[in-house]
Amino acid sequence: MAFLDRTARSLLLAELVSGMSLTFRYMFRRRATVNYPYEKGPLSPRFRGEHALRRYPNGEERCIACKLCEAICPAQAITIEAEPREDGSRRTTRYDIDMTKCIYCGFCEEACPVDAIVEGPNFEYATETREELFYDKEKLLDNGDRWEQEIAARLAADAPYR
Ligand code: SF4
Ligand code: SF4
Repeated sequence: MAFLDRTARSLLLAELVSGMSLTFRYMFRRRATVNYPYEKGPLSPRFRGEHALRRYPNGEERCIACKLCEAICPAQAITIEAEPREDGSRRTTRYDIDMTKCIYCGFCEEACPVDAIVEGPNFEYATETREELFYDKEKLLDNGDRWEQEIAARLAADAPYR
């Protein structure tokens, strides 16, 4: 009986018909996939992506070199050196993040009293070499300048829950 059933299904192309009907059914449904990289899915305001150092609107660096982020980083990925400026303010002379050590915990952002170091929305920063993932202050400030609008919107959206 099983043999006859199998033969009949083969002759009538039952699997093919069932597969095609499934294909046609899904053709008219809403797509579950996106055409990455041309389309991207939504990101949470709390998404923890590539790091950035922010500036105030007048261009001054926010970071006051308190080193709280360096102290709290569980991966010891942050290295900061600082000295006072001529005007007496304290600023970093070196701010490095070893992104190969970072575990994206977000503690550095949580610890920062002036919202200087943040994890921005950028997740497209794959590199070909390990060295490219050793970020220095210039790179982090560049990231901040590039993503400031998105970062500010993200912080504003999350502010009521902090
Ligand atoms: S996200 Fe976590 S591991 Fe990465 S630099 Fe910040 S504190 Fe360190
Ligand atoms: S980024 Fe924030 S926590 Fe880190 S040294 Fe600068 S001000 Fe302090």
